[in-house]
Amino acid sequence: MSPSAVTAMAALLLTGGAGFIGSHTLLVLLQAGHELVVLDNFANSSPIALDRVLELASPDAAGRLHRVEGDVRSAADLDRAFTAPAKPIAGVVHFAGLKAVRESVEQPLLYWDVNLGGTRALAEAMGRHHCDLVVFSSTATVYGEPQEFPLTEAMPTPPVHPYAQTKLAAEQMLASLVRSEGWRVASLRYFNPVGAHPSGRIGEDPSGIPNNLFPYITQVAAGRLEHLRVFGEDYPTRDGSGERDYIHVMDLAEAHVATLDHLMQQPGPTQITLNLGTGEARSVLEVVHAFEQATDIAIPYEVLPRRAGDVPKLEASPESAAKLLGWRASRSLEQMCRDGWAWQQANPNGYR
Ligand code: NAD
Ligand code: UDP
Repeated sequence: MSPSAVTAMAALLLTGGAGFIGSHTLLVLLQAGHELVVLDNFANSSPIALDRVLELASPDAAGRLHRVEGDVRSAADLDRAFTAPAKPIAGVVHFAGLKAVRESVEQPLLYWDVNLGGTRALAEAMGRHHCDLVVFSSTATVYGEPQEFPLTEAMPTPPVHPYAQTKLAAEQMLASLVRSEGWRVASLRYFNPVGAHPSGRIGEDPSGIPNNLFPYITQVAAGRLEHLRVFGEDYPTRDGSGERDYIHVMDLAEAHVATLDHLMQQPGPTQITLNLGTGEARSVLEVVHAFEQATDIAIPYEVLPRRAGDVPKLEASPESAAKLLGWRASRSLEQMCRDGWAWQQANPNGYR
């Protein structure tokens, strides 16, 4: 990707830049020529991810990456991040947050604190450092349990758990700063990010037994887990198993670059909300079969009752992002499987 004329002149801050989506986005932004600050407390990631990103990026990238270990809720840590580069920070991508739905039900205050309190602390720091541009990591779970597909951004957002509620509240808080302060804000509602960089050097590193479908499947393939548990085959879907809109993490990373380029070119107050998905939902059983085809490894599974809190289906309309950014996901389900498997094979214990 060639450097953008506008953003290559700027330094950017990634909160949570060592995480799954953050590390892939960091790589693409470094490759595009930008100067980056990563603020991360490594609550759910490893500093090794940043070393790996630098290995994959061009040799001069190390001089363009500033690492700040700290908490997004801390004004002092944020001030260190904003003053790490010589240039002013022109924009922020705010990945830092907690994302486990069940944990959010059990510990709601933690989620309000990190996800909303962290966004508020970040916004205050942006004010102190005269930065008015932010891309926010939101989620398709803000749509609750929708009945109509594909989902467009104007559809109702009745979130059904604290995780989604904190993300929607943070979206709304940032939108109010567009009105009061003239900020440029993008809320990106990710569907189901999966896969890994094709090198197998960076990827998703869940701790303990994975909760999500893709890492669970790759660990079954690796022989670390005996079989997959398919949660429900009585949904009103094509084959009865749950359907999701899986998107390759590299497509998602590229969407962030397109979003930053778009926002940087806006002369005044701007608020955009975009779904990021492929537009094509796949069932659990379709994913299992696609993985088997892509890797030639059988995935034994048993069908269990539905998992509490799961919705039958999520599927994005990707049209707003296509129209506004000229961006569409291009990587296939087969690539998601192949790249996720390459990462698992090369890193059986993740970054540990
Ligand atoms: P991740 O856990 O891999 O990355 C989040 C990063 O934020 C981690 O590096 C973590 O250490 C850091 N972090 C957490 N709390 C922090 C704090 N208080 N201060 C500083 N850093 C902190 O998750 P991800 O999958 O890369 O997700 C990134 C963002 O996208 C999150 O906000 C998440 O809610 C959102 N999102 C993720 C998904 C998904 O399925 N992966 C879907 C929709 C939205
Ligand atoms: N799923 C499953 N077995 C697992 C994990 C997930 O059958 O071990 C199903 C889950 O019920 C949902 C889909 O796979 O229909 C995606 O779940 P995941 O946890 O990956 O993402 P979610 O959409 O819940 O955030």
